[in-house]
Amino acid sequence: LFLTLEGGDGSGKSTQSALLTEWLAEQGRTVVHAREPGGTELGLELREIILHRRGYIAPRAEALLYAADRAHNVATVVRPALERGDIVIQDRYLDSSVAYQGAGRVLATDEVRELSLWATEGLLPHLTVLLDLDAATGRSRLDASRTRYDRLEAEAEAFHTRVRDAYRALADAEPERFLVLDATRPVEELQRSIRDRVSALLAT
Ligand code: C5P
Repeated sequence: LFLTLEGGDGSGKSTQSALLTEWLAEQGRTVVHAREPGGTELGLELREIILHRRGYIAPRAEALLYAADRAHNVATVVRPALERGDIVIQDRYLDSSVAYQGAGRVLATDEVRELSLWATEGLLPHLTVLLDLDAATGRSRLDASRTRYDRLEAEAEAFHTRVRDAYRALADAEPERFLVLDATRPVEELQRSIRDRVSALLAT
């Protein structure tokens, strides 16, 4: 079972995926908690380049760097885990690229999706939880919690609004894959909704 969490910066993906991982592990399931960008050694090097390198990165170059990170993570972490029968919970996946590199950087979203499908040999999640949050709220949550800004967190609000709108459009286009949750709801309530959906998936 391959589960992904998506949402803008500050939407609470890592909190929710950690709670979900803990809950599944308590039930005796083998869970691999993965993330991107930077879920592998190569990925960490790519993450450093993408997020902390000084200077301009052309949008298509950025899209390819994310695709490289994803390709390597899928080939060396996600697919082997799925083949062992483990549950993979991953923070961010191809929908992030469609939203950030596509809508955010104003590249054709269908092309960015195709690039990602090529990179992953067509691997799609069984369930994607979208933690939906407006850009301003996400920003103020990050301001309150972090000292070090990633390059991309410093993007203008218009960028993050495009990202949010793109996520919602993706969820509308594939309602059976997406669970859309209002990320301003309390952490425990959100987790309950996610667990209900995952339980249902595990029962099928
Ligand atoms: O999720 P995480 O905080 O690790 O992401 C780091 C940064 O990379 C964030 O600022 C996020 O907006 C950005 N990002 C991106 N495109 C992706 C994935 C993440 O711009 N496909």
